[in-house]
Amino acid sequence: MKKEEVIEKLAELIVKKGVNIQKGQPLNVSSNLESAPLAIAITKEAYKAGASWVHVDFDDAYISKYGLMYQSEEQLKKVPEWIMDKYLYGIREGVAMVSIASPKPNAMVGVDPKKIQMQQMAMQSHPKFAEIMDYSMSNKGQWCVCSYPNFEWAKKVFPNLPEEEVFDKLFDAILKTSRVDNDPIKAWEKHNANMAKRSKIMNEFNFKSLHYKNSLGTDFTIELIPNHIWSGGSENSAKGIEFNPNIPTEEVFTAPNKYGVNGKVVATKPLFTQGKLVEDFWFEFKDGKVVNYGAKKEQAVLKNIVENDPGSCYLGEVALVPFDSPIQQSGILFYNTLFDENASCHLALGMAYPSCLKGGTEMSFEQQEKAGLNHAKTHVDFMVGSKDLEIIGTKFDGTTVQVFKNGNFTF
Ligand code: ZN
Ligand code: ZN
Repeated sequence: MKKEEVIEKLAELIVKKGVNIQKGQPLNVSSNLESAPLAIAITKEAYKAGASWVHVDFDDAYISKYGLMYQSEEQLKKVPEWIMDKYLYGIREGVAMVSIASPKPNAMVGVDPKKIQMQQMAMQSHPKFAEIMDYSMSNKGQWCVCSYPNFEWAKKVFPNLPEEEVFDKLFDAILKTSRVDNDPIKAWEKHNANMAKRSKIMNEFNFKSLHYKNSLGTDFTIELIPNHIWSGGSENSAKGIEFNPNIPTEEVFTAPNKYGVNGKVVATKPLFTQGKLVEDFWFEFKDGKVVNYGAKKEQAVLKNIVENDPGSCYLGEVALVPFDSPIQQSGILFYNTLFDENASCHLALGMAYPSCLKGGTEMSFEQQEKAGLNHAKTHVDFMVGSKDLEIIGTKFDGTTVQVFKNGNFTF
């Protein structure tokens, strides 16, 4: 297939299965400059599917970098009102949102993490922020995170290949893991059916808690939120529209009980966040809260994550991914959570998805909190799956079931 055709197929998948755009619905796309061919193809597909309007926000990690480097602290703390209003305008029109992830691994080199955090805090403490974040976290409208390569990212992923090959090589890996073959729509229907089957089994077990153990030193118990729901693959928006929040995806996930996490968990992949690569890190939990943590590299970033707000030191997501998932099998470290989290069992510090709790999306914040669902201003995934990971589930009647053996589901 020619590159233009492949981009068209990927765009069609994102519009039809990713956000499943409805007739008369607007679409917002966020993209960097290198991803323009995909953003433009998505725009065309969305209009063909009946979108009322399509808006593309073009940005670049280096534009953010120089803002952070050269603006005064006072300026960084100001959030332009029109930016928040632009989001709210779309939300009130029932917008669908596509975000094209295409990270630039070196962009934040030399930027003070404190300034990154300062800007984030300003955004998060803005009075309009909660409504904007809730729109996607509670699936009020359809949203989809997908991906497109850029040269800097591709060089980081394939440091030993000739420079002229890296872009195409990364694009191939994205297409393969995103199941973009001759008929991606059909491939995703099958994949979604498989993911639904696995979620159903987990829901029928209705575990009280899961216990994780491996040779790296992970030994911890995570209670699940009572009345939890496991989901994976496609989800439904508040209006009942089926969509795929992540392309690719391999996880089934739910919400932990905020105060029911105890023990130590060791990360199995580096975490690329805030423009930095955190390596060889671990967390220790007591009654849900991170009480100790460490990293061989970029510990300051870990500190930003844990101390961001009162909820950011509690878990908000527990996700299961078999070690033999296609992304893990590709052997590629993508330095991008969208891919790396789908190669491995993971957890997330911070905000939980209300859809993981029965009736959760209709509850008030206070009711969700009371049920044990974590609230925070961030959601940061980190990977904990390994080849020797064992997970034992305990039901409410005390009986146990082996869920994972040697890194994979037992069923
Ligand atoms: Zn996840
Ligand atoms: Zn997550």
